[in-house]
Amino acid sequence: MATGGCLCGAVRYEVRGPLRDVLICHCDECRRWHGHVSASTASRRQDLVLLEQRGLSWVQSPASDAEARRGFCRECGSSLFWDAPARETISIAAGTLDGPTGLKVTGHWFVSQAGDYYELADDGLPRHDRGRGSARR
Ligand SMILES: [Zn+2]
Ligand SMILES: [Zn+2]
Repeated sequence: MATGGCLCGAVRYEVRGPLRDVLICHCDECRRWHGHVSASTASRRQDLVLLEQRGLSWVQSPASDAEARRGFCRECGSSLFWDAPARETISIAAGTLDGPTGLKVTGHWFVSQAGDYYELADDGLPRHDRGRGSARR
């Protein structure tokens, strides 16, 4: 079973089910919120169990057309979750998982919004101008 958490331990979780492979999102909101691109896996909402959530806070993702909110640790600042209420899955920042994860990066989202300060390496993975269902994450 996968486990993970923030830098300081005030948010800890486990995932009691399968994890999706990792997608890199280049959208404006992910880059601001994560400090650069996001790398997220996802699980079914009911499979994500919070073991410790005393640090967990949520902020709306202002330009999200999926009305998503983003979950972070207010004690250490780690970015952890992306949650769109209409979806059955919740995105989890892959960097917050305890290793080894066994996951792989399988694609890029919102490359139309990629920053001008980096090159997209030719990694052979699919690139999408926007995200699946046109929803930002
Ligand atoms: Zn923390
Ligand atoms: Zn994004």
